[in-house]
Amino acid sequence: MRLVVASANRDKVDEIAAILEPAGVELEPRPDSVPDVVEDADTLEGNALLKAAAVADAVGEPAVADDTGLEVVALGGAPGVRSARYAGEDASYADNVDKLLAELVAVGATTVDRRRARFRTVALVRWPDGTELVVDGVVDGHIALEPRGESGFGYDPLFVPDDGDGRTFAEMAAADKHAVSHRGRAFRALAEALAAR
Ligand code: IMP
Repeated sequence: MRLVVASANRDKVDEIAAILEPAGVELEPRPDSVPDVVEDADTLEGNALLKAAAVADAVGEPAVADDTGLEVVALGGAPGVRSARYAGEDASYADNVDKLLAELVAVGATTVDRRRARFRTVALVRWPDGTELVVDGVVDGHIALEPRGESGFGYDPLFVPDDGDGRTFAEMAAADKHAVSHRGRAFRALAEALAAR
């Protein structure tokens, strides 16, 4: 089957291709003529659907999209759906990392037990007739006391997965990260769900 990728982010597209193409899915880039959507839904599912529906409706072919959030228990699930904009609309990854560390200090979360967190990715396919296939992928872990490592992006320098050896995602090779990561799990689940249709 063929899917149009709603994301224009090269790193994400490569990662999605590495999982879906061996499963027999042919991926097409999003045409430049489809404008970026405003991701203003209040759930990860909602934002992924906005992105996929915009592309599927414009192109007339099924589209695949994903949305990810980091959910920190001591912060009531924040930053969650606001992960990209946690420190403000134009926040850099470093701004968001600094804000997360400051918020955890502010609530007195200074031990590993109080710094529990999980990444969650919702991945979905939306067909032009409105049919949807939705899956998610989760990785549990904790937020380190300070950033460590240079790989990856976003909150990677702070996230220590439970299914690891104590390194943050930013201290791991990409293949090791995605063997346990939220996005790796979500897209492997999507490949399985597509194969079972
Ligand atoms: P998106 O929905 O994949 O664009 O992710 C939203 C935000 O979550 C990003 O801007 C990052 O801050 C964060 N994020 C998503 N995936 C990851 C990841 O694999 N590692 C670290 N941060 C991530």
